[in-house]
Amino acid sequence: MFLMSMQSKWKLIAVLVLTLVILGAVGWQQFVPQPTQPKTITITPVVTTISGSQTIAQPDRIVIDTHAHLQWDPGSESSSDLAVKTALENMERFGIQKTLIMPPPFPARFAETYDHKELAEITKKYPGRFAVLAAGGSLNPMIHLTRPEEVTLDIKRSFQEIAEGIIRNGAVGFGETTAEHFSLHAGHPYLSAPPDHPLFLLLAEIAANNNVPIDLHMEAIPQDMLLPKELDSPPNPKTLRENMAAFERLLSYNRNARIIWAHAGWDNTGCRTVALMQQLLQRHPNLYMSIKIQKPLFPENMPLNEKGDIRPQWVDLIRSYPDRFVIGSDTFYGVAGEVTWRTPTGETSPKENPIWVFLRKLPPDLAQKVAYENVLWIYNVKTDSAPWQISSGSLLDIVCTFADNTYPSVCCCVPNPDRCTRQIGPRVEPKERKRF
Ligand SMILES: [Zn+2]
Ligand SMILES: [Zn+2]
Repeated sequence: MFLMSMQSKWKLIAVLVLTLVILGAVGWQQFVPQPTQPKTITITPVVTTISGSQTIAQPDRIVIDTHAHLQWDPGSESSSDLAVKTALENMERFGIQKTLIMPPPFPARFAETYDHKELAEITKKYPGRFAVLAAGGSLNPMIHLTRPEEVTLDIKRSFQEIAEGIIRNGAVGFGETTAEHFSLHAGHPYLSAPPDHPLFLLLAEIAANNNVPIDLHMEAIPQDMLLPKELDSPPNPKTLRENMAAFERLLSYNRNARIIWAHAGWDNTGCRTVALMQQLLQRHPNLYMSIKIQKPLFPENMPLNEKGDIRPQWVDLIRSYPDRFVIGSDTFYGVAGEVTWRTPTGETSPKENPIWVFLRKLPPDLAQKVAYENVLWIYNVKTDSAPWQISSGSLLDIVCTFADNTYPSVCCCVPNPDRCTRQIGPRVEPKERKRF
């Protein structure tokens, strides 16, 4: 390849581009990202890649999952690598370009299980595939350990120090925090704190000042109600306290704080209806939602019905607020290759990621926003650090175009996975590029 004449090279590039354009016209009816500044477009043809013994269709679109977890033993050095391996394999298999990982909202007794320091090590190794939110192992336990009336200046000061340290360490937001978290099985904690807890308000202020979002897990309780009969008490309380008014106080406390109400579509009180979400989105311009496609206690409030079709009221909701939704799968990637999730029907090892099932049912313009575009600005995730890495088994050429004028408008990567991985992305040094 290196010995080719310039003319032959550009001929080859032209043929590749043409082939991909044709492939694109046929197979990419959906949401290929549009080249708006300062985006980098990585075009992936519809190809097959080999992963282990399976041949898997390479997805023809881009998805960034904004909410997932790694399950590992923080005491064991190698286990985080294994959890990451599981995540990368499954991201490749299910066509997720990038995942925002975060610690789950740990209760006070598990404070500092792991948080930004441990997760930041992972993003340093794979900056294109992961970004980190943190607070679940540090700030969230602090909120749940401190009653609102017990918050002192000293506590606020140390909370702020930790929060600012998280951002300095490269996190793109605070998560996962919780104001109402049900215990769904043994060992799964019940956690509750008012959404307008002084430390949540302080977190909103810090998030606004640093231009990062907060990921908040909170069951919807518009009025005091009995615990759903499917849940055990204890550890859950028999009666649930209304939390929507306090949530609205948090939202209106600082309009520059972007708050992602996690797990839209995964309703465990029967109250997180489309109508409720619509009202809140209308009243609060800084409210966003991440959609989780898993079976909750109240499947009637899922975006997909029992036949797998999208509910029209969900399309209307997203159409009314197209910039406010992202995907947040809430997948847990484990050390032994296991992935804990469930499809809308409760299946635990799906052939297809439920995210894709959902996105395919959305009108393409909305799917593109939800899957990818909204994430870029809500989380300030830069595409220039998010090249699509090629699997070691991939044999086909990739053509990538860059919006940035300092780089070639088209570059061609030869069928050498190592070289391709290095060459994709706008941070390639000019002298390296010349080798092409
Ligand atoms: Zn959650
Ligand atoms: Zn979660």
